[in-house]
Amino acid sequence: MINGERTIARPLRWGMVGGGRTGQVGYKHRTGAQRDGTYQLVCGAFDLDAERGRDFGTRLGVAGDRCYADYKALIAGEKAREDGVEVVSIATPNFTHYEITKACLEAGLNVICEKPLFFTVAECEEVERLAAEKGLIVGVTYGFTGHPLVHQMAAMVRNGMLGEIRIVDMQYTHGFNAGDDVGAGEAVKWRTNPKTAGPTFVLGDIGTHLYYLSEVVLPHMKVEKLLCDRKAFIPTRAPLEDHATVLMHYDNGARGRLWVSSVNAGNMGSQRYRFVGSKASVEWSDSHPDQLFYDVQDEPNRILHHGMPYLEEESLAADRMGALHTEGLGDSWANIYLWIAQAIDAKTRGDEAFLKTHHYPDIKAGTEGVRWLENCVRSADAGAVWVDFK
Ligand code: NAD
Repeated sequence: MINGERTIARPLRWGMVGGGRTGQVGYKHRTGAQRDGTYQLVCGAFDLDAERGRDFGTRLGVAGDRCYADYKALIAGEKAREDGVEVVSIATPNFTHYEITKACLEAGLNVICEKPLFFTVAECEEVERLAAEKGLIVGVTYGFTGHPLVHQMAAMVRNGMLGEIRIVDMQYTHGFNAGDDVGAGEAVKWRTNPKTAGPTFVLGDIGTHLYYLSEVVLPHMKVEKLLCDRKAFIPTRAPLEDHATVLMHYDNGARGRLWVSSVNAGNMGSQRYRFVGSKASVEWSDSHPDQLFYDVQDEPNRILHHGMPYLEEESLAADRMGALHTEGLGDSWANIYLWIAQAIDAKTRGDEAFLKTHHYPDIKAGTEGVRWLENCVRSADAGAVWVDFK
């Protein structure tokens, strides 16, 4: 159980690029990072609007002279200080991730970057090499995979409680873009333009969360082939998609089905996962993250509750609130940030043995998300055909 006790020697000096007052995801970063005293927010280039960013940053408690106009000024300003920033989170639109990550790594700073990590696998691999060369960590904020019951599912699969996995069924949908984009805000505008979003809209925006969570639960299974059918129901979003279905064949013979959409009008169900094995199935949704459905063939269905002693050790190790009390998205983000802090701490101490077994969403996880997107686009743009996963 996590109770806020420090697991690293001292808080990391932490900064943010993006995630300003109007940003959607910035608070999730701050609530995650600041939960356990493992990060201290010392600087930021929070906003495209420098003045608004400075005002916002000072209200977060950051010194005015460490609220910078942009990431380049942040890197230069912090480099000049003895107590300069050590790790920077990037919570900006997709097209800026690669450039800002590279600049931070070049300057000797660890990075925590939003998904989808970059536009291409080639960019990911280049940055992976750079991070390795510099001895730095790049974490990726797949923020849902800190939920304790996600790790319960992983343990149950590993322990054989489901039998051989046959079916993977995943859905992340909402209806916020069911209407057209006339008068849409910035966050919709950049998401629906390939220059700023990259080669996908909903596949990258929400589908990468599904894909990464399935990798956490099913690390032994690899996709061999996939077929992706994508469509823009609102034509101005083309060539990007506001809806997609992906069929997948795994190397153990399992079949996968994944649905992502931002035009699922009226839907607030968000994410749902069902992993079906030869003996039993588990089903989990982030709408009710405290409960895991465990359905054993020929037995009454069960609901497992987070924090209960009957759960596997790795699920209990990720629990914060204890059974009876609600464990939510903020707790999941806090876990992700904690695990990344522990990785940065170990890397700084040269503790490669710790890093070998320590699990957190790392740059490889970011790369695999982008690889999955590349395969989806290749399939969809060839007319929704089966492609070998490369
Ligand atoms: P947004 O448009 O709501 O906010 C972007 C923020 O970044 C704003 O504060 C903006 O002023 C600032 N910004 C933009 N360009 C900047 C720059 N060059 N330098 C400094 N600040 C800059 O976007 P959002 O919805 O918060 O998404 C940001 C990123 O987070 C995207 O990559 C998105 O895919 C990702 N995201 C992830 C999750 C998750 O669950 N992990 C959730 C939402 C968004």
